[in-house]
Amino acid sequence: QERLRHYLPDLPEEDPYQAGHRTCAGCGPAIEYRWVLKAAGNNTIAVGPTGCMYVANSSYLCTPYTIPWAHTQIGSAGSFTSGVAAAYEARIRKGKYDGEYPNVIVMAGDGSASDIGLGSLSGALYRNHDALFICYDNECYANTGIQVSPTTPYGGMTTFTPPGPVIPEGKKLWPKQLARMMAEGHPWCYVATTTIGYPIDVINKVRKGLNHRGAAFLHIYTPCQKGFVYQTPMSVELSRRVVECGLFPVWEYDPGTRQYSYFKPPVIRPVTDYLAMQGRFGHLLPEHVAALQRAANRNFEMIGVEVPEWLREL
Ligand code: SF4
Ligand code: MG
Repeated sequence: QERLRHYLPDLPEEDPYQAGHRTCAGCGPAIEYRWVLKAAGNNTIAVGPTGCMYVANSSYLCTPYTIPWAHTQIGSAGSFTSGVAAAYEARIRKGKYDGEYPNVIVMAGDGSASDIGLGSLSGALYRNHDALFICYDNECYANTGIQVSPTTPYGGMTTFTPPGPVIPEGKKLWPKQLARMMAEGHPWCYVATTTIGYPIDVINKVRKGLNHRGAAFLHIYTPCQKGFVYQTPMSVELSRRVVECGLFPVWEYDPGTRQYSYFKPPVIRPVTDYLAMQGRFGHLLPEHVAALQRAANRNFEMIGVEVPEWLREL
């Protein structure tokens, strides 16, 4: 925090997401929650559909929030948040509320955002409610015991995709392109991706999304040490390597110009630098790693990074 303050002298003192919650040590989504709510500040209403960050943060009738927060059912993150935003718009329009329009933020896990609650989320983005919709993506249903989700990567081991003699790679499907779907399908929605490896980028995109008049959607990669099986202090390192190896492109989409702008990582790595840190990929055979490297190379080409010859040969 002190080093960040060097770059962001106006980093708010307040922490609407306080210490004392019950997530695992090193939990990526908890780091994401802290930065997002710090960026948003105290005039914020947070919504949390079912997921790790609902269960771990609100057990035994207490929460770590200093701001209003509400739980909603896993499938209704979009509709619930639409209701909160629409209610404030109506109260202000009718002169029944003279405060400043609050930051309305929903943070849904990948299970809610990309799977069970995708319909309600898409409806909210399409109707262009003035709110920030975030998917904190730990690439599995972590809260219920690490089941596969649509954003689990190819080759990822989960309790529903165990590797074995018939399916040696574990998960066979490639992940759903959630943020792309949101950008392509919702005419006025600001969309961006980032990871907790880049806190200033998280803070900037949260503020940009909140300042955008209308719907905004962020897809934030947040590692889960229980699901990914890695050394606890490596959450931030993983969140940089996933970008540096090309498996999670970081970009921003401007709905006004319909243009994407891509972040080109200063360091380029092979996917093995990322995969080898995680137990969920420990069963992969060389042909599976090669398939992941080809996918990463295609992402590099998409973001305008020239793929070095040594990466093509892997
Ligand atoms: Fe965080 Fe994963 Fe633990 Fe859930 S299981 S609290 S997402 S580290
Ligand atoms: Mg999840």
